[in-house]
Amino acid sequence: MDLIEEEVLVQVCNHCGNSVAFGSGRFVNRIPDFNDFETRIFYERKYPTGDFVCESCDNNSLTGNENE
Ligand SMILES: [Zn+2]
Repeated sequence: MDLIEEEVLVQVCNHCGNSVAFGSGRFVNRIPDFNDFETRIFYERKYPTGDFVCESCDNNSLTGNENE
């Protein structure tokens, strides 16, 4: 059962919930999030089931300038 869960990626950004699937416009620049579900809960991701971070959310997390 665990094996199946690992093989099926949830193609959603775990910050904003936008789809990063092929054809969404965010497919090319999506970044795989290697954290597990519990870690995403800990960091208070709004969409912890998502296995990716989209480009705009990744820029925010790298710079820490979300409020600017
Ligand atoms: Zn996002």
